[in-house]
Amino acid sequence: MAPGITVRSSTIDGQGCFATARFLKGRKIAEYVGERISRREIARRLRGRRRIHICAVDSYWAIDGSRMGNGTQFINHSCEPNCNLRIIRGHILFFALRDIEPGEEIVLDYEYSYHSDRKQCSCGSRKCRGKINKLE
Ligand SMILES: [Zn+2]
Repeated sequence: MAPGITVRSSTIDGQGCFATARFLKGRKIAEYVGERISRREIARRLRGRRRIHICAVDSYWAIDGSRMGNGTQFINHSCEPNCNLRIIRGHILFFALRDIEPGEEIVLDYEYSYHSDRKQCSCGSRKCRGKINKLE
């Protein structure tokens, strides 16, 4: 587990990633780690999965956090996120969008994920757009 986070059940979906420390706005929360896989392997692993813990690095590579993950693979989607994701030199990093207090669930707007465009969102926020993926 990455420092400052823990995993427990979430009201959004299954398990979630929760802060155990305070993360100030703009600060790094953790890196998304796991097994680095190629496009062909991504396609193979996506088949038939309901929960997806694969995050794209670029158009070819992705990281599967369900293997060798550090807890960040449980960060749920929310249409009202408190962190964002930046890819810096092949590393996927989460940063706090605002101050995050211990006990808060860490949530990210997935925007363009490997989930189906039809997948409904259950984030419960007032700003919920209804679907997980951002559709233009
Ligand atoms: Zn939502």
